Amino acid sequence: MHDNDREEELVASGRGKWSKAGVPHKGWHCVDIEDLGEPQVECGMCESQTIRYVHHMEHPSYPEILEVGCVCAGHMEGDIAAARTRDDSMKSRTGKRKRWLSRKWRISAKGYPWIRADGFRVTVYPRGAGWATTISSEERALLQHSRKNYQTEDQAKLAAFDQITRVLAREA
Ligand SMILES: [Zn+2]
Repeated sequence: MHDNDREEELVASGRGKWSKAGVPHKGWHCVDIEDLGEPQVECGMCESQTIRYVHHMEHPSYPEILEVGCVCAGHMEGDIAAARTRDDSMKSRTGKRKRWLSRKWRISAKGYPWIRADGFRVTVYPRGAGWATTISSEERALLQHSRKNYQTEDQAKLAAFDQITRVLAREA
């Protein structure tokens, strides 16, 4: 059975947090996406599906960000098509993501790695105890700093890649 069909059933049958009091069913929005490379975490909402492509969902009246699969994300934000577009974008950029770290990163005047890709300029730099990222695009009038700090420079670079995927998915 296709993963999405299975997760659809899990939502419909109220698995995991879908039937837990105090967990909102609607009004979530996606703040991050992530390709884990292989299915390796349990969906934070249905608590039943093992997922590879992770949608990080935030809600104003829920204390934590939930990391969930495509179908749960779509139901949580009330927009199945948007969640599916993000998921498809992650899948279509898998090969590119694999090569991302071995691309030729340049070094900025301040000594930080940066690269131009897909119409974005990406920079990673030390922040706090880890690494942060900034992506910018002049044609989109966009400038985004990562919310999180990442443990390693490579993790920050991959997070920047995923952030670009999310922006491109929103435009699709
Ligand atoms: Zn789920």
